[in-house]
Amino acid sequence: MKIIADYHTHTIYSHGKGSIMDNVMIAKKKGLKKIAIADHGPKHISFGVKIKEFSKMRREIDQINDTIKGIEVLMGIESNIIGKDGTIDVPKEFLELFDIILAGYHYATYPASWKDVYPLTIVNGLGKLSKSWVKKAEKINTDAIIQAMERYPIQIITHPGAKIPIDTHRLAQAAVKTNTWLEINASHGYLSKEMIEIAKEHNVKFVISSDAHIPEMVGEVEKGILTAQSAGLTARDIVNAKEGE
Ligand SMILES: [Zn+2]
Ligand SMILES: [Zn+2]
Repeated sequence: MKIIADYHTHTIYSHGKGSIMDNVMIAKKKGLKKIAIADHGPKHISFGVKIKEFSKMRREIDQINDTIKGIEVLMGIESNIIGKDGTIDVPKEFLELFDIILAGYHYATYPASWKDVYPLTIVNGLGKLSKSWVKKAEKINTDAIIQAMERYPIQIITHPGAKIPIDTHRLAQAAVKTNTWLEINASHGYLSKEMIEIAKEHNVKFVISSDAHIPEMVGEVEKGILTAQSAGLTARDIVNAKEGE
């Protein structure tokens, strides 16, 4: 199995090491047909993309698509889920600028409001200390992600289950309804094998991503492919994969 697109790569617009062009050239060299630039959403403390840079990125990507042939570049963003009601950190009026929206949960983000600090930060923190809090955290997190998928045109949920507990059954059911892909992230190791097996029962579509923060790592997804295969997936289950070496 190999991948033909990498929908999750970072650049200097957040805390990646390379430019958009660096990522694109490496992707092209590795034979990918598509790449998405998906830097961290603006509410990521210290390295989120600045909203005022959105239009500059758009111009840069349009220019690359006009000049570099053989690969398509998508403008994406790895938005942060910052509200327990699923609020993400891309204001609605900017959503149309993007070709693809990814969303995930990250530490070190500014919450949508003070009411979101307790459920998203404190309960998840307590979940690390005590098992009785894990279930509570899991419900809050899953509710938030599902509402985000219902409210926004989110194509990919990044590394589900990394950093925070979630209910894979409920997530998978909602992902099928909203036509959202669940990510097998080669850097984070999530979805895990066990979670993929659960999600597969619901016929979810999966995507394997590098989450590259340096250009050389674009398209490097071996760990994700191995996890997918160990859980019984074939290229048919994975939107950006095809059979073969
Ligand atoms: Zn992430
Ligand atoms: Zn990422």
